[in-house]
Amino acid sequence: MPTIKCSVTECQYNSDVMCDAPMIQVNHSGSENSSTSEETQCETFKPKH
Ligand code: SF4
Repeated sequence: MPTIKCSVTECQYNSDVMCDAPMIQVNHSGSENSSTSEETQCETFKPKH
């Protein structure tokens, strides 16, 4: 797993602004033809509870 910086600290997998998940899945966001980073999203996100 490469080092993944992630600022989504609300996620259960986030540890010190880094992703600690064993793997992540990233999908298109909205359109099936992303052309900017805003058009992608992390599917593995899980809210902290
Ligand atoms: S699972 Fe996704 S949202 Fe959660 S810390 Fe990792 S990269 Fe960020």
